[in-house]
Amino acid sequence: MEILVKKADAGALKPKPADESKLGFGNITTDHMFLMDYEAGKEWINPRVVPYENLSISPAAMGIHYGQEIFEGLKAYRGKDGGIYLFRARDNFIRLNNSAKRLCMPEVDMDLVMEGMRKLIVLDRDWVPRNEGTSLYIRPTMIATEPHLGVRPSNSYIFFIIVGPVGAYYKEGLNPVKIYVESKYVRAAVGGTGTAKTAGNYAASLLAAEEAKVKGFTQVLWLDAANHRFVEEVGTMNMFFLIGDELITAPLNGSILPGVTRDSVIKIAGDWGIKITERSLPIDEVIEAAQNGKLKEAFGTGTAAVISPVGQITYKEKDYIVAGGKMGELSHRLYDEITGIQYGKRPDKHGWVERITK
Ligand SMILES: *Cc1c(COP(=O)(O)O)cnc(C)c1O
Repeated sequence: MEILVKKADAGALKPKPADESKLGFGNITTDHMFLMDYEAGKEWINPRVVPYENLSISPAAMGIHYGQEIFEGLKAYRGKDGGIYLFRARDNFIRLNNSAKRLCMPEVDMDLVMEGMRKLIVLDRDWVPRNEGTSLYIRPTMIATEPHLGVRPSNSYIFFIIVGPVGAYYKEGLNPVKIYVESKYVRAAVGGTGTAKTAGNYAASLLAAEEAKVKGFTQVLWLDAANHRFVEEVGTMNMFFLIGDELITAPLNGSILPGVTRDSVIKIAGDWGIKITERSLPIDEVIEAAQNGKLKEAFGTGTAAVISPVGQITYKEKDYIVAGGKMGELSHRLYDEITGIQYGKRPDKHGWVERITK
């Protein structure tokens, strides 16, 4: 299917950010977007790159009322040679299609959306920032648009990709964060939608995050919904704990999001000969390890922050300092390796990187 490209008028182009050190996260979008429509019986039609503009949908659109919305988050990187690179982008669209299945939404043609994304980024290439640690954040999104107020899967959808330059995700940068172990609210239960990147999961997490923020925490650490016992993940990141010489992360057992960064950490740690285990990890084991000095490091993983070291864990109103409140050695090594591959500075032996500019 041919992708139509309609460029914005030169006079309508937005000013680019003047200072790349102040980009922040998620504040800016570029001049264009990719869009396509789905109609029952016709499948996906009209793939196009067009000037960035507001959407026009019915106030009765089913996505607004019943939450049929899925999204992805990935990045394009300015390599040291000036080229633009993607990191494991196909894995994001595989996950998007898995989310689509769970939410009774139509899957997309991977090659088509990848091509649409490349065309969009190449057109808006001057928006890909150059400062260390900056990138172009990419947000593919699907939403149900059929105007209908009864509960059932929608018959029409739009899929779009918007992009924008971002700096470091956390204000703290690589400074360790304080996390609050949440024992009242839950994020997702096995059998629910926790493995899908869908809007409702994040709406469900906001109250816990706000309450934790008031107490001075950056993030909450979720425990499993059934027992409030096993460690799951943090905000928009998977979690890893280095206890003794074992690096542990929760298994993909039906309630956590299968992170691309999580998978990269597992593969790289494996390459380095680190003992990496996917297993259910009781919070009591983490706390005991923190008390007897065996908890060497803890960190979150996600596209936005890459590796986010944890400096303090608070559970049942008690604080436990991790890695002396600093970024641990393994966290640092993983951060350097993953960002090194993403920016084309280190060998890409897994074939994760794709150059999209000539
Ligand atoms: C997106 C996300 C992650 C991280 O996934 P990456 O593919 O590594 O960016 C982890 N947990 C949740 C809940 C997420 O939404």
